[in-house]
Amino acid sequence: MKVNPLVSKANNPIRSIVDDLVGKQNPAKDLISLAQGDPTAYGHLKPPEEAVAAVVRAFLSGNHNGYTASSGSAACRAAIATTHSCKNRPPLSRDDVFVTVGCSEALEHCITVLAVPGANVLLPRPGFPLYETLCQRHGVSFRFYDLLPETGWEVDLESVRRVYDDATAALLINNPSNPCGAVYSRDHLKDLVTLAQTLELPLIADEVYAGMTFGKPFIPVAEVAGKVPVLSVGALSKRWLVPGWRLGWLCIHEIGTTLYDSGVRTAINRLCQISLGPSTPLQAAAPQILALDDSIWLRNVLRKLMSAAAYSAKRVARIRGLRILSPPQGAMYVLVHIDRHAFLDCPSDLLFAEKLLEEESVLVLPGTCFRAPGFVRIVTTVPEPVLQAAWDRVESFCARRCTRTLQITDTSTSSAREGHSTLANLPQVASYIGGHEGLLLRPPSQCATQENSE
Ligand SMILES: *Cc1c(COP(=O)(O)O)cnc(C)c1O
Repeated sequence: MKVNPLVSKANNPIRSIVDDLVGKQNPAKDLISLAQGDPTAYGHLKPPEEAVAAVVRAFLSGNHNGYTASSGSAACRAAIATTHSCKNRPPLSRDDVFVTVGCSEALEHCITVLAVPGANVLLPRPGFPLYETLCQRHGVSFRFYDLLPETGWEVDLESVRRVYDDATAALLINNPSNPCGAVYSRDHLKDLVTLAQTLELPLIADEVYAGMTFGKPFIPVAEVAGKVPVLSVGALSKRWLVPGWRLGWLCIHEIGTTLYDSGVRTAINRLCQISLGPSTPLQAAAPQILALDDSIWLRNVLRKLMSAAAYSAKRVARIRGLRILSPPQGAMYVLVHIDRHAFLDCPSDLLFAEKLLEEESVLVLPGTCFRAPGFVRIVTTVPEPVLQAAWDRVESFCARRCTRTLQITDTSTSSAREGHSTLANLPQVASYIGGHEGLLLRPPSQCATQENSE
């Protein structure tokens, strides 16, 4: 038997890196994972109760057991159109909305539709690895433009111009961003739009972290896009803390009929006919979920994410060799820079992550997973006591490993010894966390029974 090379080539770059780390933790210490991009991993962040109730009602009604329209139920599309219409633009109609299996499928539709053979798509670096996986899967080439680490991870516009050519089919942007936590200002978005207009590129806007910012407001790029067509994608996954519900969407924002005339809408409709979209009961519940006034709940969630980010920044500031170049302003991650001259024994992010796991049983994702070598990514969706224990261990690891000065360990701050008891009362990290950043924390043989019994 042969395997389609487009599939075997389309591996998620995180996968092989993480597979290399599996099972390498120090058996004497509980594993603490700061790696998985699944906000439900520790159980302390929960969706709004009313959202859960809406889903339960949809199932209990017995009215949503059949197929619905392949681009999404009329009510669900209409609700997404209402909540995603932008100021100073014609309102979206439900025909502008396609309901998808998570944000991932929405991204896949965008790339499949725009990237004709021979075309290339411009992707952010650092960025979410699914983008390249999808391009590979569909035999489309991709090029990276850079984000500026010292300037809030804004887009380096010059680098976009550099990699652009006549075959470029789209510019993909991610705001708020994974892994950088960047939140773009209105001015920066306007600059991006102006550039897209000059280069005559449509924008694919991954806005799955819409609304998840720590002060600076989230601005949908469509709001300032003018005549530049925008395919904006989102989902319930992150903002509502329910990635497992698999409800996402793709909204087409266009003034004029460029996308319509080129058949993009018809083509997306066809793509929707393949998977037939997310489950009907979830679609039935979505209008109620989107209409909730959950601002108090959201503020509370964001406060936790923000305080985890601030706590990490405080700890990083005390650790020689580590630095945060631009603090996150949204989403659920912090990128920490590792000074390779300070860690001569583990001069790459890959080695740093490996040694940290081997010695301290703390799992972080090497930046290389996101094309950000020299950084590691930690998540902010971790309860404070766990985060504290993790940073104590990172601190003692760095004190041992940092070769920049001869200052060796201050053990008074290390709670590695207490780590066990501190963590004993906390919910254990699930042994398998899925998603594109899925991490197998134990050998598959040990996970199998647990997974199957779900
Ligand atoms: C998590 C994530 C997605 C995927 O979202 P799903 O709704 O789970 O498919 C897409 N883009 C980014 C940047 C993400 O972090």
